[in-house]
Amino acid sequence: MNRLTAVALSDGLTVETVMYPYGTLCISSQAGCRMACPFCASGRKGLARGLTAEEMLTQASTEPTAKRITVSGIGEPLDNYEEVERFIRMSPLPVSVTTTAVHPELLVKLLLLPHNGVMVSLHAGTEDAHRRLVPKAPPLSEIYTALAEAWKKMSVRARKRVGLNYLPVEDINDSDHEIELFAENALKFPEASVHLLTLNKVENSPFSPVTSQRREEIFIFLRGMGLNVRRANTFRRQEKGGCGTLWLKKYLD
Ligand code: SF4
Repeated sequence: MNRLTAVALSDGLTVETVMYPYGTLCISSQAGCRMACPFCASGRKGLARGLTAEEMLTQASTEPTAKRITVSGIGEPLDNYEEVERFIRMSPLPVSVTTTAVHPELLVKLLLLPHNGVMVSLHAGTEDAHRRLVPKAPPLSEIYTALAEAWKKMSVRARKRVGLNYLPVEDINDSDHEIELFAENALKFPEASVHLLTLNKVENSPFSPVTSQRREEIFIFLRGMGLNVRRANTFRRQEKGGCGTLWLKKYLD
């Protein structure tokens, strides 16, 4: 069972953390988010502010049994890059980060830090589907260029810690064409893994997850292309604490 904790900040805002049963603690890098990805609850009210590295450490300390931290909660880490970098360097536990790559030059810097993983949320094969799902991110072509630049400087070990996220959404990015284009680009980063996520439908969202059959077809196709594909575990697919479900209660009230 996921355990959600509301962490009160000194100025009255609240952020949420999620402890997953396998020892990973998901924390937030910002109070709110300006990215407005339309399938996600966390960006519904825009951005209040970025968090300091100390505030991220405070979140990390809420779960003494955590074995690793993932900065995958509320916020876009690259919009708060300096503090996220400070946090990665200060954290006693290994830290992974999930990002839309909104600032490609900072994605390169992030990839070269001593992190425990960087998950890049791409979610599309075509630029059109990418614009619909991650409207404030730069074009896919710029993100892949940044990835390629970092790739040249990264060890094989570091490259293996990179994940390319794909969240299939019904009638948006679930066609064969979308998946094929995504796979072609992903194959340029052979050591990376592909993370096939599941959409947790949030209130008042017009976006729906694909059927489990279609998800399986996509998984088999990507694997057949030679990609190392991982599926989101069940804890990330729950209404309580699943990906995209966190929201700033205090901020929204
Ligand atoms: S998916 Fe991430 S970047 Fe997009 S709105 Fe939600 S928290 Fe922000």
